[in-house]
Amino acid sequence: TLSDRLTSVLKNLRGKGRLSEADIDATAREIRVALLEADVALPVVRSFISGVKERAKGAEVSQALNPAQQVIKIVNEELVGILGGEKRDLALAKNPPTVILLAGLQGSGKTTLAGKLAKWLSGQGHTPLLVACDLQRPNAVTQLQVVGERAGVSVFAPEPGNGVGDPVDVARRGVAEAQRAQHDTVIVDTAGRLGVDEEMMRQASDIRDAVDPHETLFVVDAMIGQDAVSTAEAFRDGVGFTGVVLTKLDGDARGGAALSVRQVTGQPIMFASNGEKIEDFDVFHPDRMASRILGMGDVLTLIEQAEQAFDADRAEQAAEKLGTGELTLEDFLEQMQAVRRMGPLQNLVGMLPGGNQMKDQLANFDESYLDRVQAIIRGMTPEERANPKIINASRRQRIANGSGVRVSDINDLVNRFFEARKMMQQMAGQFGGGGGGSRKN
Ligand code: GDP
Ligand code: MG
Repeated sequence: TLSDRLTSVLKNLRGKGRLSEADIDATAREIRVALLEADVALPVVRSFISGVKERAKGAEVSQALNPAQQVIKIVNEELVGILGGEKRDLALAKNPPTVILLAGLQGSGKTTLAGKLAKWLSGQGHTPLLVACDLQRPNAVTQLQVVGERAGVSVFAPEPGNGVGDPVDVARRGVAEAQRAQHDTVIVDTAGRLGVDEEMMRQASDIRDAVDPHETLFVVDAMIGQDAVSTAEAFRDGVGFTGVVLTKLDGDARGGAALSVRQVTGQPIMFASNGEKIEDFDVFHPDRMASRILGMGDVLTLIEQAEQAFDADRAEQAAEKLGTGELTLEDFLEQMQAVRRMGPLQNLVGMLPGGNQMKDQLANFDESYLDRVQAIIRGMTPEERANPKIINASRRQRIANGSGVRVSDINDLVNRFFEARKMMQQMAGQFGGGGGGSRKN
């Protein structure tokens, strides 16, 4: 997985202070593979990555994140931006009914979507009518009727027994029926074929011309991966569409089709279908899709949390003190609180690439220990925190009483603190430290 591969990149980059060109290239290479594995079309990957590199090179150096994390963050932001850019709601007609035409290959999920969309619109206070214009497959009309019943909406269908009807005529009469019965929205379900062909495009554009839709939604199965690009291009040129609906997102597709279709056609992805049941439907969420494409939702969460918890200035000060051996218990408390704001340690570690092993080891770690440490430090006066050397026996007794721990707990903490500080001083010395030098390369 991407997480695994990034582990090595992260390792190589740990401890660096700024985004070098080589850092960006190394991380970009990994992201490129992730995008290709998620079935994003190659030309789309190329233009996307070059855009990201451009932005990464101009990026400010983040104190909270290491270089690889910074590049991932930029990639994620760009993905979300593109997937959600120019996002808009359904265009509603000034004079109802609003006509919504569904187009797409056979099996892409149009009829299923018709029911989902109708139910969703009903929930928003609309009064949709479904119109059955797929007269090609024997059971298509019945299927829409079943779907309409589940959605609790009316269905307009040609009268049975008249031979094969004309879908264009049915579409026209369906819209007239909506006007008559005062439906404010009409969803026109059409026939598709297994592959792109002229006959299908002609029929769809004839229906389009007959009903003059306010929205034409291109319905595309997310599982078709790379083929999404050529299919979307064919529908764009053959029928034209104003929005995209992705279906079958409950399958194991990595979602690359979304980015490809969005990039190639420039039309927004408006809805997502993620199951066969009528309630398996939602407006499209660009952030969820972005982390699906990158396959690293947890890492993204971690990056976000790290940024929130991290106070760059304070950390800079602490780092400087670290080098000069002036670290106080106050700094210690602050750092600990910053880490803990990110959630339980076990979750935190589990989110890191390769962190699952450590997570198991941490399973027995008693977090109440950290509560105790916090309570002890809070029980100290500012003077004691700044200069732990003054904490003598009587002060220890007072702090123990105040924070509800034993004197031995305080001895432990103070001893460990001095040990840690000594170690840091030695490390700083080894790296030619002094004045935060360890942060700069
Ligand atoms: P149409 O030919 O474009 O009208 O496609 P249908 O609506 O008939 O759907 C084709 C098949 O895909 C049916 O078996 C549906 O139940 C199934 N389907 C549609 N949408 C989804 C979805 O979001 N997830 C899953 N798992 N199946 C879906
Ligand atoms: Mg159908």
